[in-house]
Amino acid sequence: MRTALLHSIATEATEWRRTLHRNPQTMYEETFASNFVCEKLTAWGIPFERDIAVTGVVATIEGRRNQSGRAIAFRADMDALDITEASGQPWASHNPGKMHACGHDGHTATLLTLARYLSQTHNFDGTVRLIFQPAEEGGRGAFRMLDAGLLERFPFDEIYGYHNWPFLPRGTFSTVVGPMLASVDDFEIELIGRGGHAAMVEHTADVLPAAATLVSALQTLVSREIAANQAAVVSITNCNAGTGAFNVISGRATLNGTVRTFRNADRDLIERRMRQMAEGAALMYGATAKVDYRRLIDPVINHREAVEHCQTAAAKLVGDANLLPFQPMMGGEDFGGFLSVRPGAFIAIGQAEPESDSPHNYTLHSPKYDFNDRILPLAAEYFAELAETRLRPTNI
Ligand SMILES: [Zn+2]
Ligand SMILES: [Zn+2]
Repeated sequence: MRTALLHSIATEATEWRRTLHRNPQTMYEETFASNFVCEKLTAWGIPFERDIAVTGVVATIEGRRNQSGRAIAFRADMDALDITEASGQPWASHNPGKMHACGHDGHTATLLTLARYLSQTHNFDGTVRLIFQPAEEGGRGAFRMLDAGLLERFPFDEIYGYHNWPFLPRGTFSTVVGPMLASVDDFEIELIGRGGHAAMVEHTADVLPAAATLVSALQTLVSREIAANQAAVVSITNCNAGTGAFNVISGRATLNGTVRTFRNADRDLIERRMRQMAEGAALMYGATAKVDYRRLIDPVINHREAVEHCQTAAAKLVGDANLLPFQPMMGGEDFGGFLSVRPGAFIAIGQAEPESDSPHNYTLHSPKYDFNDRILPLAAEYFAELAETRLRPTNI
């Protein structure tokens, strides 16, 4: 009965997903998706609050009973990317230069499917929170919702989220205990020397040798500082100095890049040693260094018990054979922000089709990518199963 109801809702949800896909917006400008969600929730009589972290929405659905006094949260992100769509789908983006190339349109439609289902059934003992989050793509939307008092205003005991996964076949689920996706930090280092005539070097403090030394030194942060059984990446992606003139020594150089780790202790270490290396390299050449190290998002670290709940729920829907171990990746997801403050787990739900030219098989962030609507009922049922087992009604 549950599967049939979810499938019938998902037929409509495919249209919602495609409407969302046609109207992508980025980084706290997701007014279309936010309004769309609020219109649906209003029509279904589900209480919600909006404008949390600009465009965020949180809906609350009460179970038939609340003897447990517990609440469980599910999260969907709503934002798109600055990509010009080339999917050729009839529902392709109407907004030039913007595209739902990460499938957050599908995540939003999944949570709406769940909302519709739970508002018709209420077959749980406790409270379900549905979190529609802005600005996952580089905007720290999860953190901004937490800063806006998410936990105090809409308390919950555990939280779950998913990402569609074009790298795995439809009908499979994949997660892992512990680190799943990496932290994302960026840094900018400014080396300040004394510019001047390239033929009268005694009057200058040349920052280029300092920058070259520093680029080499930073490469050793991972190989010489991080334990060999831990993963981390330090990539210097820009190094700029000089004006293009052959006869001018530059008095200023900037380096920037990204740092990925799975442990906060490794972030602390890398930041501390990066500062020391920058100051040391500058000192060697009579220059000074300023380091701006910005912690953007926490790693996604799944809680063991929550992963077990996820695996039990997924196995019930697709069988143990379709439950695959997730190989941790150095990509980031700001869902990690929620997992820093509450137990929970993130899971990948496969969406690839057997046909090699399927738009659902393109990598995330490809201009040809498209969310696979066929996973909508499965993803919603996975959440429904979690809600109904984690808040199992004992006496209804
Ligand atoms: Zn993305
Ligand atoms: Zn995404």
